[in-house]
Formats: sequence, structure tokens, C-alpha cells
Amino acid sequence: MMRRKLVAGNWKMNGDRASLAELDAIAAAAQAAPQVDVGVAVPFTLIAAAADRVPTLSIGAEDVHEADHGAHTGCVSAPMVREAGARFAIVGHSERRADQHETSHDAWAKAAAAHRAGLSVILCCGETEAERNADRAERIVQAQIEKSVPDDADGSWLTLAYEPRWAIGTGRTPTPEDIAAIHAIARAKLRMLIGDRADGVRILYGGSVTGANAASILALENVDGALVGGASLTAAKFVPIIEGAAGL
Ligand code: PEP
Repeated sequence: MMRRKLVAGNWKMNGDRASLAELDAIAAAAQAAPQVDVGVAVPFTLIAAAADRVPTLSIGAEDVHEADHGAHTGCVSAPMVREAGARFAIVGHSERRADQHETSHDAWAKAAAAHRAGLSVILCCGETEAERNADRAERIVQAQIEKSVPDDADGSWLTLAYEPRWAIGTGRTPTPEDIAAIHAIARAKLRMLIGDRADGVRILYGGSVTGANAASILALENVDGALVGGASLTAAKFVPIIEGAAGL
């Protein structure tokens, strides 16, 4: 099955109003590459301003709470980010797993909440360096997928992102063979869980993607795009990744 490539940025806890100017060139590059889907997840405080500034670009949230509303001081729900202009949400990112002790079950509940609110979801999984060194990467990723993918998932709203934690922000990436192997295993696991609908679910690679390595990583089988942290903060670094995905 043909799956459109998706290049998604994740600004993490970076950016201010002035940084939104970067989105102008990113939106222009996205329009020049209509064969690729492009999105940028920004801090909650910037979602509305970003969505207003670049209406053609898909703006996302970096997390959502699993409840729609209620007594959860300091949290932000999926309906709230939807109303602010977000079209997608990242859930289960490894930094939330590490810093906020989120589990795959939390990621499952957040994915369901985001879907309920009409958002697309980028659901992250990936092993730590110790797990890879212990030869447990495949089992860890399989278990994360099993615990976090909602039963009713399909490619119209769910995207999976394989992000080995040790590759995030480090400049290190797995070998092409290792990326392809995990993506194949992830696809097989999805098939076990949701049957043929797995074929429509995009699986992104994330971890130190740059303009220099994007095209070769995105050419690998079952790699349907990239989730990009550091290199999504400026148009100068992000646009070459969009162009690499588009084969420009
Ligand atoms: C990420 O945090 O999702 C990520 C992939 O970060 P980086 O591109 O900076 O490695």
C-alpha cells in the first residue's frame, strides 16, 4: 500500500512568538511539496498563534491529558488544543516517559482522548540504550505498541513513531538495517493488533534526523516519514528534510 510520507517537527520546550516566523518558510516548503504531509508540534502557548499565522500548515500539540476536562491543575486536554487550532497531538514521547514517568498505558489513554477530540495522533515508542545493548529493542517496541495502540486505530488518524531514546538529540542514529528491522517488526505487531488496517498506518523514524540523512532514512522500507526535534526549530534545517522526503 502507498502511504504518503509525513514529516513532523517537535519544538519541545522551545520557541516564542518571534520563532513563529520560522513557520512561514516551512509552510511555503510544505506547499511546494504537495506529495508530502508536513506538521509542526509547538508548545501549548504557541498553538493558537501558530495556527492563525500559517493556516495551511498542520500545527500540533506535544502532549494532551487523557481526560477531556476536570480537576487536573496545569494540564491541557485534547479538546482544548483542538479548539486552539491543533490538528494533531504527539503522545508517549520518550521525554514524557522519562521526565513525567508516563507509561504505554498512559500513551494509549492519551491517543484515545486525542482521537475523540478529532485530532490525528503521533504515538511514540522506542528503546533505551541499555535495552538495545541487552538485545531487547525488538521486544520493548513490540510491548509498547501492544499496550498503547487503541483497538479502533487506523491510518486515517494514527501514526506510529519509532524513536530510539539514545538517538534523540545525540547526533547518533541506528544503522539503516536496524531501523528497517524495527519498522518491519512494528508493522507486523500492528497487523497482529488491528489486522489489515495496519497497512494504512504510517510509521515514522525519529532521532537525530537532519537534512543530510533524511533522504536515505526515508527511503527505507516501512519508513513513512520522520519525527524531527532539533532540526525542526528553524526553516533552514527543517526545509531540507521536507525536500528530502519529497525527493526534491
Ligand atoms: C524527538 O524528540 O522527537 C526527536 C526526534 O529529537 P531530535 O530530532 O532532536 O533527535
